[in-house]
Amino acid sequence: MKTGIIFIMAALALSVGCSQPPKTSGTMEQSDKPAYALVIHGGAGTIRRENMTPEMETAYLTALNTALDIGEKILQDGGSSMDAVEAVIVFLEDTPLFNAGRGAVFTNTGKNELDASIMHGADLDAGAVGGVTIVKNPIRLARAVMEKSPHVMLSGPGAETFAIEQGIDTVSPEYFFTQDRWESLQRAKERENQSTGSLFPADYTNKFGTVGCVALDKNGDIVAGTSTGGMTNKRYGRIGDTPIIGGGNYANNATCGVSGTGHGEFFIRYTVAHDVSALMEYKGLSLAEAADLVVHKKLKDAGGEGGLIALDKNGNVAMPFNSDGMYRGYAKPGQREVAIYKD
Ligand code: ASP
Repeated sequence: MKTGIIFIMAALALSVGCSQPPKTSGTMEQSDKPAYALVIHGGAGTIRRENMTPEMETAYLTALNTALDIGEKILQDGGSSMDAVEAVIVFLEDTPLFNAGRGAVFTNTGKNELDASIMHGADLDAGAVGGVTIVKNPIRLARAVMEKSPHVMLSGPGAETFAIEQGIDTVSPEYFFTQDRWESLQRAKERENQSTGSLFPADYTNKFGTVGCVALDKNGDIVAGTSTGGMTNKRYGRIGDTPIIGGGNYANNATCGVSGTGHGEFFIRYTVAHDVSALMEYKGLSLAEAADLVVHKKLKDAGGEGGLIALDKNGNVAMPFNSDGMYRGYAKPGQREVAIYKD
């Protein structure tokens, strides 16, 4: 089987090269509802085998497996999908490999401005933050907005004041710096100088690296969370789809939970995350059909690059993407997969 795809069947017994790889979407429909299910992504985009060293590949696969371990432990112990999603995303935010928290991409003015959201499928409660610069783990702040404020979305300095009032960890902006992302900004600016007439010069050519997690717990509660630094070279306080409920993130116990990654403007305009749920609710599509239709038809036809992870109320998982690759994985009792590339 192809490098970079690892199936772990039965507990954590690692086996490379066992069964058939999943369809592009990684979708599996099943009738027996599992005790829990968890699906994650670490961003979609131009992620190609030829651009990856074996060391980098191992680092990504290890981080994805660790994230699944963290979430699975909480769900196995009877914890909530809310706690599992928060803990998984905090880990991914703290891991500089991903474009969220530490390791976030830089804006045109050399800052890191972070977006995140979380949604509870039981009651459609949601919390989101946009453009925060000193909050160590924006997903924690998104949860606090949901649980401790009367609002759904806070942005910029106001969101940071709320974080401080709530005792959420803050850091100096330099905490988010990584050399790799800094160099990406310099390359993006060089390309921008060479091109003419670009209205939106944010860098869509690189791998993206946003993180997301959707979990189903033993009570049937679905929670979806997403966190990002946005797009390299973004300007003017741009906020992407990640904190837009229904755009880059959505959860509804009656249908599914969704976390998106890719060119955010398309995810907002096509209300991607809610569209998957709506196709299930109003048209009776399966999770696989709905997720594939949105990513491989609606988004793709519009020129929107990216992918999503989704989980339905029966524990079915979908991970479709129309880009070269997407860091992704899922875990259910006795099943696990982590993967990077299309094949
Ligand atoms: N969707 C994110 C944004 O547009 C970027 C990404 O997924 O990497 O802000």
